[in-house]
Amino acid sequence: MKILALSDQVVETIYSPAVRERFGDVDLIISCGDLPYSYLEYVVTMLGAPAFYVHGNHDQPEDIGGGQVLREPRGWVNLDGKSIRVGPLILAGLEGALRYKPNAPFQYSEWEMRWKVARLLPGLLLNHLRYGRYVDILVTHAPPLGIHNDVDLPHRGFAVFRWLMERFRPHYLLHGHKHVYKPQHTRTRYQNTVVINVYPFALLEWEK
Ligand SMILES: [Zn+2]
Repeated sequence: MKILALSDQVVETIYSPAVRERFGDVDLIISCGDLPYSYLEYVVTMLGAPAFYVHGNHDQPEDIGGGQVLREPRGWVNLDGKSIRVGPLILAGLEGALRYKPNAPFQYSEWEMRWKVARLLPGLLLNHLRYGRYVDILVTHAPPLGIHNDVDLPHRGFAVFRWLMERFRPHYLLHGHKHVYKPQHTRTRYQNTVVINVYPFALLEWEK
């Protein structure tokens, strides 16, 4: 199973008909946020695979002309706060970044994120009863605290994501939010989980 993950920056070759040649065989598309909805809609239209996303802190309604405003990407399923089984995979998602502005959308304090995680737990426990595991791929916008993150508030990660990895052992945690250019800073193993900074895209194989 091939998975194309996107985040944070529009990639020219993906936003062109060449996307079919390069990624026409992907079985699943994931977005970790901070991308124009029109870009996401283009990709899902061209690839025709199931598509799941979480919002980033920079997501906002997009004027596409003719009086039309996109508030969500059409053809994509919002994964925030949900756990969904797709073929052999169990996905779960948590949107947003650490709060640095009061009342801004898609920003959460550590405590607010803990509350979001608490609401996700019954679904994860049910997965374990049904399938023998809690979650395969955790999709977030922000990184976990101390992994691929920065010290400044807007780019600091969530501590509760570390707890989620320790307790529920996802195979992957995919995140965006942090623009990095050195490959050694985009993949980190944390216990049973490979944490991947998707920026600006990543291609994964699921072989289990
Ligand atoms: Zn962001």
